[in-house]
Amino acid sequence: MDTGIQATNEGLVYAHEKGIAVVVMEPVKGGMLANPPKEALDVMASAPVKRSPVDWALQFLWNKPEVSAVLSGMSSRVQLEENCSSAEHSGVGSLSTEELESIDQLADVFRRRIVVGCTACSYCMPCKQGVDIPDCFAILNNVALAEQGDFTQKMSTWLMKRGYKRKSQNEKQREKRPEAGGAATLCTSCGACVKKCPQELDIPAELEKVHAVLGRGEKVEKYLPPITPDVPSLHSNRAQSAGSSHENTDV
Ligand code: SF4
Ligand code: SF4
Repeated sequence: MDTGIQATNEGLVYAHEKGIAVVVMEPVKGGMLANPPKEALDVMASAPVKRSPVDWALQFLWNKPEVSAVLSGMSSRVQLEENCSSAEHSGVGSLSTEELESIDQLADVFRRRIVVGCTACSYCMPCKQGVDIPDCFAILNNVALAEQGDFTQKMSTWLMKRGYKRKSQNEKQREKRPEAGGAATLCTSCGACVKKCPQELDIPAELEKVHAVLGRGEKVEKYLPPITPDVPSLHSNRAQSAGSSHENTDV
């Protein structure tokens, strides 16, 4: 879904043409793609092949001849086994046109519901003011993804909002409970984190959105990204993928 940012899909193809191997980090966008909203689950349910959300994300990358390795950041044995199973069913150019169309639809759903494009890499941390930057963004994004879901997802939204309220909202609370992590209100817009962010996020501005929704209680819909009809295709190299002999195997 991030084919239009950083190096972009065009950059990926260019590197491949120059014989440069490309390693993809955060294929599941910091875990975000593993917990899809109902709308995305509906797309997966109607897809020609049944896959888990993580499997869709990994197969999308492994399908591309330009991707040499994917670093999926597994944190448990279960995830390791699931990813190995996915890898066994992967291959360059192995996805059908129908499957690629399902991926396009999934990307559209996520693009419309992810407020901040943070991948939880934590390169911006620590913040001298104690702001727990990745967690603030994760809560906001998860609230946006779950907001239109079923009763269970709405309950989880409520719990996430409550979790945010437990973060330190001011200096006094921060000194008393440093382990709670700091809320967006602690940000002084010093800008120290901005140059460390590989996603080139304007972190103080994005934290404003966190405060607006989770602090002031504004509707998250107000902060959803605008629909951009000119987002580069996820599969601009679709034709090249078919028939390539390149093998990519890493997880
Ligand atoms: S801009 Fe805000 S979040 Fe970033 S380092 Fe400064 S105080 Fe922390
Ligand atoms: S560096 Fe950027 S992408 Fe990484 S956790 Fe911080 S805000 Fe998120």
